Amino acid sequence: MSANGFFDEGELVAVLTTQPLDRTLDYRAPEGGCFLGAFVEVPLGPRKVLGVVWGPGQGGFDLNKARSVIRVLEVAPMREEMRLFLGKVADYTLTPMPAMLRLATRAPGLGDPPSMRKIYRLGGSEPDRMTDARTRVLEVLREYGGLAFTLKELAEQAGVTSSVVKGLVKQGAVREEDSPRDLPYPHLDPDLPGKALTEDQATAVAKLQAGQRSGDYGTTLLKGVTGSGKTEVYLEAVAEALRLGRQALVLLPEIALTAEFLTRVEARFGARPAEWHSGATMTERRRVWRMVGQGDAQLVVGARSALFLPFRDLGLVVVDEEHDTSYKQEDGVHYSARDMAVLRSSICGGRVILASATPSLESWANAEAGKYDRLDLTSRFGEAVLPEMKPIDMRAEQMQPGTWISPSLRQAVQQRIEKGEQSLLFINRRGYAPVTLCRACGEQIACDHCDARMVEHRFLKRLMCHQCGETKPMPEACPSCGVEGKLAPVGPGIERLAEEAEATFPEAKIAMLSSDLFGSARALKAKIEEIAEGDADIVIGTQLVAKGHNFPKLTLVGVIDADLSLHGADLRAAERTFQLMRQVAGRAGRADKPGQALLQTFQPEHPVIRAILSGDEEGFWRTEAAGRQAAGVPPYGRMAGIVLSGPEVGPVFDIGNAMARNDAPLRDVGAQVFGPAPAPIARIRGRHRVRLLVKAPKGAPIQDAIARWIAPLKLKGDTRLTVDIDPQSFY
Ligand code: ADP
Ligand code: ZN
Repeated sequence: MSANGFFDEGELVAVLTTQPLDRTLDYRAPEGGCFLGAFVEVPLGPRKVLGVVWGPGQGGFDLNKARSVIRVLEVAPMREEMRLFLGKVADYTLTPMPAMLRLATRAPGLGDPPSMRKIYRLGGSEPDRMTDARTRVLEVLREYGGLAFTLKELAEQAGVTSSVVKGLVKQGAVREEDSPRDLPYPHLDPDLPGKALTEDQATAVAKLQAGQRSGDYGTTLLKGVTGSGKTEVYLEAVAEALRLGRQALVLLPEIALTAEFLTRVEARFGARPAEWHSGATMTERRRVWRMVGQGDAQLVVGARSALFLPFRDLGLVVVDEEHDTSYKQEDGVHYSARDMAVLRSSICGGRVILASATPSLESWANAEAGKYDRLDLTSRFGEAVLPEMKPIDMRAEQMQPGTWISPSLRQAVQQRIEKGEQSLLFINRRGYAPVTLCRACGEQIACDHCDARMVEHRFLKRLMCHQCGETKPMPEACPSCGVEGKLAPVGPGIERLAEEAEATFPEAKIAMLSSDLFGSARALKAKIEEIAEGDADIVIGTQLVAKGHNFPKLTLVGVIDADLSLHGADLRAAERTFQLMRQVAGRAGRADKPGQALLQTFQPEHPVIRAILSGDEEGFWRTEAAGRQAAGVPPYGRMAGIVLSGPEVGPVFDIGNAMARNDAPLRDVGAQVFGPAPAPIARIRGRHRVRLLVKAPKGAPIQDAIARWIAPLKLKGDTRLTVDIDPQSFY
């Protein structure tokens, strides 16, 4: 390899492929040579596979047998910082490199030559014979000056068939050209006028931009109540990145939100950014991937995996709603996009902004410790004020069996209806009822493949397993005792609450918002817009409504069960309840009308409920931090979750027990192992699941220890092991 990373033809190169192998493979550099980092196609057995030139070949075998790289793909080579990043994520998450490369190449057809399409312009010659149709085509082309059209566009504009256009091409009156399909994204202009910022906002922007101009890595926690203008502030940081000629990435937790956000980007910068999410088409994904790599996409708005796009010069990553649990990927590569954004930026000298009204304890603690800067926006923009929060003590309410709206809440909703204002009733449970019970034998209908109860979805007229998605029709008779007509729903879900609301407020217009009730992101967005315009008196919603949607007429939030998530076994139960309740309450009173949030609870004196009501956020974080510190759990200690699964429970437990016995590599670094124990959901899709938990002091090299611990394991047949570093959920 030469000093600038070039391999001459025939030189041995090591290639990392996307195939599940535990090492790189040696090939000869192709005709014309290749650069370190080049994306290549190589032969593997009878197949051609995608790979990246990772370094000089290792040799050590009969060099006459070395095969050659088939070809170098026409895309920008992988940059050194990306190779470094992938390697570090692999080490951190204990993921094999081929899986990392797959994550970094999740765009189909990367290897294809740039795809071309035909476009049409005005040609030089006159056609031999003019017809009305031909005249119209030429008029359209003249009218639009030098603009090119696709065949379909041109025919439609002129109101002719495509054969008319083709005829003109033959005559030379219209010119046909090939043009690449993957076009650069339109230019975003950071110097279009932005909004006039409040003093608070301007101060935050000045600090962020000063950091960006330093050119050094740095992370800032941007904390501010919903509506305080966090988005306005970070858009100005995006503007600064663009002025500095660097690329920016905005990560959002939910697709449904991007539409509103894209409109804001367009208003600020005059054009739409590149989008990266699971709903994008194959062609669009490939276009984003290529344009990001060649620097022709200045801003990407996307889901967590956008972090693995081949940015040429990533100067800023914004993680909006940074506390959101969807940033943690829980299958395949178990990574936290928030943490990996920080890692990536530290490698490439970029800035990170973590925005939230209710930050994760991890980020709060990092700011406390001085690792992150912290900026607070304390007031809401304009007239809007934070809602008043009050408990409804359910022990004192007269409740009819099978109802969940207390008399106090009912009265508050009634008042809003009379004033023409909106109320939101929040319940974090999809479906009609979480449990279907047989009143004859006590059986609770469960999924056949999972250790989970089936949830009735009356809307779909089916029972559904929220673990595996399996559904079945609601039976007439109990599947266990066979008695008919005794199956009864127990507990509320959003559909049942809506039924109660309809009965309680017969004159009100009621809208339901739950992720499973809409076929597409577009249908959901349309519904949200209808509601925002005031087309509902009562909105009944799940977690979906807690996130960023703007309902100006909403002045009351009623939380049906504030205690629901308080008692999970999860170490983050208190934190999650606190975040969720504050986010939901923040939906009320965004415009000029003050809002109120009422929390139905059986434990108004519980410390978490009290902290939510009092609004003493710092007090809550400090108490929560002290508790975690005492218990030695994250972020003051380290954890890793191990899940073993297989079709038979016995062998899975045997492996778990053997792992617990042979824990020397863990003890070497001061780590402890707990378990094996059946996982909280002991069976999913027919596979039995056993968990082990590794706990270690902060700073212990836990990945290394775990790698040494699991290396000698021989997993037979269908048994699988997954390692989740810094687990967020414990199912
Ligand atoms: P957050 O991201 O903190 O929830 P947003 O940035 O979405 O807050 O701001 C809330 C609303 O207030 C938005 O409609 C936004 O356009 C508006 N807003 C915020 N700051 C300003 C400002 N300085 N000038 C005009 N409108 C603003
Ligand atoms: Zn199931």
